[in-house]
Amino acid sequence: MRQFDYIIVGQGIAGSLLGYQLLKADRRVLILNDESIPTSSAVAGGIFNPITGKNLDKTWLADTIFPYFKDFYLSLEKETYSRFYHETNLFRPYANEQQRRHFLQLTDEYDLDQYISLVKPNIYTEVENPLGGLYTSSAGWVDVPLMLEGLKQLFIQSGAYQAEKFDYQALEISEEQISYKNFQAPKIIFCEGYYASQNPYFKWLPFNPAKGETLIASMADYSIKEIVNQGSWIIPLGNQQYRFGSTYVWNQLNWHTTPEGEEAITGKIDKFLKTSYQIIGQQAGIRPTTKDRRPFLGNHPVHSNVYVFNGLGTKGVSLAPYFAEQMLNLLEKNKDLIPDSNIQRFYSLYSL
Ligand SMILES: Cc1cc2nc3c(=O)[nH]c(=O)nc-3n(C[C@H](O)[C@H](O)[C@H](O)COP(=O)(O)OP(=O)(O)OC[C@H]3O[C@@H](n4cnc5c(N)ncnc54)[C@H](O)[C@@H]3O)c2cc1C
Repeated sequence: MRQFDYIIVGQGIAGSLLGYQLLKADRRVLILNDESIPTSSAVAGGIFNPITGKNLDKTWLADTIFPYFKDFYLSLEKETYSRFYHETNLFRPYANEQQRRHFLQLTDEYDLDQYISLVKPNIYTEVENPLGGLYTSSAGWVDVPLMLEGLKQLFIQSGAYQAEKFDYQALEISEEQISYKNFQAPKIIFCEGYYASQNPYFKWLPFNPAKGETLIASMADYSIKEIVNQGSWIIPLGNQQYRFGSTYVWNQLNWHTTPEGEEAITGKIDKFLKTSYQIIGQQAGIRPTTKDRRPFLGNHPVHSNVYVFNGLGTKGVSLAPYFAEQMLNLLEKNKDLIPDSNIQRFYSLYSL
C-alpha cells in the first residue's frame, strides 16, 4: 500500500488548484485523473470579469476574490515558468441608445467607479462603437489549458499524479482511512466537474449543467487588445488568433460541437465585428453549473472523510483560487466554509 495524506480525483481547475495548495502545505497528495475524457477546463474561455450581465452586476465576492486570484496566478506563473494570466480591459460597446442610458444610470446608481470607466464613441475601427461604451478594469483571461499543463508537470515531478479513470467500485471507506486499489489516505476529495453526475457519493447535489461552445477565429486586420463583449465576446489569443464565445444550452448535454453552436456565436459577433474572419476551430464543453449558482464544497453527509470541490460553474477561473484555499483550511484546520458554498445547505436532499 502507498500512503498519502490526500487523494484527489480530477485535474481540472478545481482538483489542480486544490492539489497545488496541499502540496505547498507539504502534504503527500495523489491526483488521479482520467485523461481520455473531454473536460470543461480544456475549453474554458478563461475570462474573469468583475461586472457582468445586462444590469452590470458585480460578481459574487468580487472585492475579495479578484485581488486574491491576481496574486495567486502571478505567483503560480513564476513557479510553473509559464505565462497564462492576461489582465486587460473588457470593452462593452453600447448596443443602442437605450442601453447607453441604462448603463449610465446603473454606473451612477451603484458605486462601480473602481471597475468601470466610460469610453468615447468611435475609438475603434474594427468593431461598431458609434455611441462609445464601457471599460471594465480588473478583467482579463487565463489560458487555462496552459496553466493546467504547467501544474501537471509540477505534480508529476512531486510524484503526485497518475493518469487513471477512478473506479468508484474500488473505493473502501472506513472512519480513519480511505483505500483505493493500492493507495491509502485519510481523506479523499472529488473534483470531477460535470462527471460528478456519475459519482455515487455526490450525484444528489443540485447541479444545473450548461453545455457551451466556443470558436477559434483567425483575423489579419484586427488589432484590439482588449476583450470586446456585446452579447458574444472576442478574446485576443495572440498570433492573429481569437476566441469567440460562447453558447449556453441546458437540454442537450454532450461534448459535441454543432453547426447551431457556430451560427449562434457568429450571428452575434457579426452584429458588431466589422473585420472579416475565418473560423479555424470549434470546441464544446459542459460547465459544472449549480442551481443556486454557488460552488459545492464540503464533506459527505455520512462519510466525513469524503469531500467534494465542484460547482465552479461559469466562473471557475475567478472562484477556484480562493475556494481552493477555503478547502485547504477546511481539510487541514477544520475551519468553517462560507455557508453559501458549503454543501451542508443541501444535506436535506441526501437520502441513503
Ligand atoms: C464553453 C465554455 C466556456 C467557458 N468559459 C469560461 C470563462 O470564460 N471563464 C471561466 O471562469 N470559466 C469558464 N468556463 C467554465 C470553466 O470551464 C469551469 O468552471 C471549470 O473548468 C470547471 O473545472 P472543474 O475542475 O470543476 O471541472 P473539469 O475541468 O471538467 O475537470 C474535471 C476533471 O475530472 C476528471 N475526471 C472526471 N471523472 C473522473 C474519474 N472518474 N476518474 C478520474 N478523473 C475524472 C476529468 O478528466 C477532468 O480532468 C467555461 C466553460 C465552457 C464549457
